[in-house]
Amino acid sequence: MEWNIAAECISLVMLGIIWVYARKGSRLPSLKNRIFQWCVMVTFSAIFTNILSTVMIYNYVRIPMWSTLVVTMIYFVLTPLMGLAYFLYTLSVIYTDSSQIRRIVSVGIIPGAVYTLVILSNPFTNWIFDLNMNDGYIRGPFISVTYLVFYAYCIASIVFTFANRRQIDREIYRILAAFPVLAVAVIIVQQVYPSVILSGSAATCALLIIYLHLQNRQISIDYLTNVPNRQELLDMLGLVLKKTPKKTFVLAVVSLRDFRQINNACGQQKGDEFLKAMCQFLQKTHGGSNVYRFSGDEFALLFTQEDETQIKKCVETIQERMEQPWQIDEFHFKLNVVIGVVQYSGEGESLEKLINSIEYAVSQAKSGKCGQICYCNKEMLESLERRRKVIRILKEKLEDESFQMYYQPIYSVRSGQFYYAESLMRIPDSPIGPIYPSEFIPIAEETGLIINITYVILNKVCKFINCLMSKGIYIGSIHVNFSAMQFSQPNLAERVLAIIEANGTPPSAIKIEFTESTLAENPQLVTDFALKMKAHGIKMGLDDFGTGYSNIATVINIPFGTVKLDKSLVWVSMKNENSALAVRNLTRTFKELGMKVVAEGVETEEQRKLVVDFGVDQIQGFYYAKPMPEVEMETFMLAQSKKEQRC
Ligand code: C2E
Ligand code: CA
Ligand code: CA
Repeated sequence: MEWNIAAECISLVMLGIIWVYARKGSRLPSLKNRIFQWCVMVTFSAIFTNILSTVMIYNYVRIPMWSTLVVTMIYFVLTPLMGLAYFLYTLSVIYTDSSQIRRIVSVGIIPGAVYTLVILSNPFTNWIFDLNMNDGYIRGPFISVTYLVFYAYCIASIVFTFANRRQIDREIYRILAAFPVLAVAVIIVQQVYPSVILSGSAATCALLIIYLHLQNRQISIDYLTNVPNRQELLDMLGLVLKKTPKKTFVLAVVSLRDFRQINNACGQQKGDEFLKAMCQFLQKTHGGSNVYRFSGDEFALLFTQEDETQIKKCVETIQERMEQPWQIDEFHFKLNVVIGVVQYSGEGESLEKLINSIEYAVSQAKSGKCGQICYCNKEMLESLERRRKVIRILKEKLEDESFQMYYQPIYSVRSGQFYYAESLMRIPDSPIGPIYPSEFIPIAEETGLIINITYVILNKVCKFINCLMSKGIYIGSIHVNFSAMQFSQPNLAERVLAIIEANGTPPSAIKIEFTESTLAENPQLVTDFALKMKAHGIKMGLDDFGTGYSNIATVINIPFGTVKLDKSLVWVSMKNENSALAVRNLTRTFKELGMKVVAEGVETEEQRKLVVDFGVDQIQGFYYAKPMPEVEMETFMLAQSKKEQRC
């Protein structure tokens, strides 16, 4: 019989290419990846022995018969084993629990094992094939068993895929369902035309589909830097935590500061080249592997051996390198990095906790609270835990709108009355005790919760104003604090107007306070918003003036009614004459520009005298009143209304 092995030879080359690329791809030693490697190996060996056996059978007269027999037997064992390998691969994709796979495999392996025994006994039975010096190779009466076993595994793959279709991602489902069908189709062609050997091509096609869609580097490798991506790191850590939960390791994240500047100054392409160069440097420093692209401008280094000197040396090398300039073509630049380091203690922390810890360490390093490198120690983990609790409390309080509002009256110098007040959010009781604004406001801002919190506060303030008005208590306006984040909301003006309108509160009774740093960050957004608010009669006030490095030209052009001098300006003016002179002149300038000036943080009689002397219009401070809950504020305002009436 004549055989055509051209397709097999091409398949062998293709398979070789897949093998090389698959090895370069995901390094994750997961069951799925290991079985994929096994599939490639078995298929490669099956095709190789098939080609070899065909050549040997052609030349059986010149080659010792026993060697042809051995190679042919290996080929016959491996061919249906390819089916078994794909079946196992299918199981590894469907089931994440290896004990489930083990149970199915213990049954599923039986046909393969029986078939292998049949092949091993073939020299005595000649059931599958016969090889002799007179006729060469002769097909045995049960040669179809080889194909049947292969079909059986392909069908089993289809059945398991179909049965678990709801658990599997649609894309993966389609691929898992397609590749055994394809393999079966090719083998049917092979049976119809036995002279064209196609079994290897069928297997190679199946592997190619799997490789391109499931095992592809895209999933695990970052295209730009050619190192594994964040998902691969998460998978790797997940695997390490699951398999060796007691093993300690160290994870470091190197975060580039102001990387955006390179893109802005030199263009995106140069930025990309810098990232590649940086990544190569990290790979060299960290000994090649275990460098991951953690995010756009962050790289993770995984130290699987917890060797303190190695880690220290690596960190020092990075720091030293970052002190030197980088050269990308004609551009030279220097960039700073911060490094967050987390040690996994082998105490069974979850992957989520580990990632939160490293992100926290990086954010702490970025904030400069612990220098350029931040080791996430026990203390920090505790504060991270507290932060998590605060977030939970904020979410709960936001959900049922149960945080409390305090109000601090603001004294008007000319009238000697309290017509205004600032609303201040408070959490006086919670499962972790009282939480102060200095703690929860930054957290609410970082998590974006402040956006909805502010809408709830505005609603509460409107209701409070309505309540005072219904009791005949006069209030000029209540100030509501708006964080910088609020201005990122595209429909901010509409939401604010809708809340005020829904409550039927006079718009002039609301004053929106935003800080100087908010203005410095988003001058255009704030200006546009202020104009809209002014058009509807809502007031705007600049808070914390003197702390935010805003452009004075922007400040004087925004239509807001008041400028609140930050407490620090008041306090420093007490000690320093030059500061006092500057604040006095600033106050005059703002007043000449038609704004009212508020002094904040006035605690003593001396401070009061000083700010009155500066010419401020209003005073807010503990000297007059501390922030107080709604009921007390109502009593305070009522008392003052009565006093006013008596006057
Ligand atoms: P802020 O907007 O500058 O609010 C004024 C802060 O100064 C308040 O602190 C107030 O209690 C405090 N204060 C007033 N008079 C004096 C004084 O004479 N001496 C001293 N030492 N402090 C005085 P509080 O309530 O702790 O709030 C701190 C910051 O938290 C606020 O600064 C504001 O930035 C933020 N915050 C508070 N409540 C809210 C809110 O409802 N929304 C937003 N977005 N931020 C808020
Ligand atoms: Ca304020
Ligand atoms: Ca302030």
